[in-house]
Amino acid sequence: MQPFQFHRAASLQDAVRTASSQPTAAFIAGGSDLLPLWKADVAHPTMIIDITQLPLALVELRGSDLALGALVTMSTAASHPLLLERCPAIVQALLASASPQVRNLATLGGNLLQRTRCSYFRHRALPCNKREPGSGCGALQGEHRQHAIFGTSNHCIAAHASDLAVALLVADARLRLYGPAGERHIHVSELLLPPAAQPHRDHTLEPGELITEILVPEAPWTRRSHYLKMRDRAAFEFALMSVAVGLGIEDGVVRSARIAAGGVGTVPWRLGACESLLIGQPAASDSLARAAQAAAEHAAPLTHNAFKATLLQRATLRALHTVLADQIESRS
Ligand SMILES: Cc1cc2nc3c(=O)[nH]c(=O)nc-3n(C[C@H](O)[C@H](O)[C@H](O)COP(=O)(O)OP(=O)(O)OC[C@H]3O[C@@H](n4cnc5c(N)ncnc54)[C@H](O)[C@@H]3O)c2cc1C
Ligand code: SF4
Repeated sequence: MQPFQFHRAASLQDAVRTASSQPTAAFIAGGSDLLPLWKADVAHPTMIIDITQLPLALVELRGSDLALGALVTMSTAASHPLLLERCPAIVQALLASASPQVRNLATLGGNLLQRTRCSYFRHRALPCNKREPGSGCGALQGEHRQHAIFGTSNHCIAAHASDLAVALLVADARLRLYGPAGERHIHVSELLLPPAAQPHRDHTLEPGELITEILVPEAPWTRRSHYLKMRDRAAFEFALMSVAVGLGIEDGVVRSARIAAGGVGTVPWRLGACESLLIGQPAASDSLARAAQAAAEHAAPLTHNAFKATLLQRATLRALHTVLADQIESRS
């Protein structure tokens, strides 16, 4: 057991001040990712800052945004009627994550910052550039069925595991942050970093900076959205591949489209080529098929994960059809 200090934060300022004074401090929310990593000797915090008493567990409408506090649990968010009405894809992504027990504990902020499930990363005896810079990437020449086909580098090919992050990318969500320099906002696409030459850096938060809120805007594509997750078993399993789709359709024509994939990218991966092929086209089978075909454009699969490219095209087509069918149903 490593010695560590424990501090229960009394305010945002207290949390940030305490974290900034100790480079190896870690915030703890639900602890469902931090504690297993700590037990496995992968995380080594010397100071734990409990943020669970901070007032960050509200869900409320703020102007045209739906604001979700970073400490809202995954189960609270998944059962919130406003979120279901405004962005079904987020609710579906949450319900497809982990298990009811984990969702009761785990928070939205913690979910976005969870670390990769790459098994080389989580076992100290194996080489991993993300855990120990310069030690090599065990997965590149080893087992990489679960790994990414987009955004990889010669240093790391780990997929990002969050389902929520994929749905938030489609929702065009923003994050409210609070750190040593005060408050700032970023788009959700600006939070996570692809590995490039520095796989040990997962995100763009400053040391001691907290996520305080997730802001989901009102938009046609959020109301008409869907999340589809493919995994090795029907529950309690991370995504082999997932896709979130949001479409704005008027008079039978696709006016806006946002599509992103999970389990295939080192970060949640926006499928821009599919979106471009859909916008301005009739909301009909032919256009959906053409768009879905482009889902695997620029994919760089390896031996064990080559199947993901085809799976992604098929899942994208299915998710697009689901959104279209929901729209037809809601008009009849
Ligand atoms: C068995 C199991 C199965 C799972 N399956 C899935 C799945 O299918 N899909 C999926 O998406 N996830 C899955 N997860 C991951 C799970 O959703 C995350 O562990 C959880 O959401 C993390 O939230 P937490 O509050 O417990 O975070 P913690 O473990 O407390 O924190 C995680 C990290 O985030 C930091 N942190 C937490 N909150 C904040 C904040 N507000 N601001 C800044 N930093 C913060 C912590 O310092 C830590 O580094 C699974 C987890 C388990 C254990
Ligand atoms: S894929 Fe990334 S996390 Fe996995 S072993 Fe390689 S460097 Fe480590």
